[in-house]
Amino acid sequence: MQIIIFGSPGVGKGTQAKIIALKFNIPHISTGDILREAINDQSELGNKAKEIVERGELVPDDIMGEIVKDTLHNEKCRNGFILDGYPRTVAQARILDNILNNLNKNKTHLIKLDADDDVIVKRLSNRLVCKKCGNIIVNHELKENSKCKVCGSENSYIKRKDDEEEVIRRRLKVYHETTAQVISYYKDKLHIHEVDGTLPIEKVTEQIIFQLKMN
Ligand code: AMP
Repeated sequence: MQIIIFGSPGVGKGTQAKIIALKFNIPHISTGDILREAINDQSELGNKAKEIVERGELVPDDIMGEIVKDTLHNEKCRNGFILDGYPRTVAQARILDNILNNLNKNKTHLIKLDADDDVIVKRLSNRLVCKKCGNIIVNHELKENSKCKVCGSENSYIKRKDDEEEVIRRRLKVYHETTAQVISYYKDKLHIHEVDGTLPIEKVTEQIIFQLKMN
């Protein structure tokens, strides 16, 4: 099963993608996670992407295309994948079409999670992320630098640089500017499953699974 999960930053794409990946036994490919890992490792890719990601802007399409091509050609994606954070531009959507054609993978589902910008800003500016395992909490649950409640590492929770309100607003602006074009690119090609991202996590999952099974 090939799935693209789409939606504004902070709408819950990552959370849902992880659940759906487990449910269908397919890998969760998050281009944001790949870039953050590269930035942490200070790899060549990470050094190129660092400032762009921290400003909340988009990494160039050619760089992203190479990352996605390498990842989707990997054996672990043989039975499908859930792609989170890609494509974000029409050029990326075209690159993805080519990659999937070459791999002979034709039926792809597109899930679009929706939520108002104000809900997103409130959610993201209140969240902390474990720098080791990626666990996400809301910051009144535990303080910055607390021990991670999932992987147990010390001093783990941080506020992501791109979760500052100003950066979130810029990420949302970039999302709205580019998303409409990507969605209209896909309108005649794929069935788009639209799901309300403001519902409780389990309800969102339920709706996604229902829609995937119906189509
Ligand atoms: P995300 O975690 O998906 O919100 O991604 C975090 C940041 O990584 C984005 O704000 C971009 O700077 C960068 N990024 C992730 N995916 C892409 C992509 N497909 N194209 C360009 N930049 C990306």
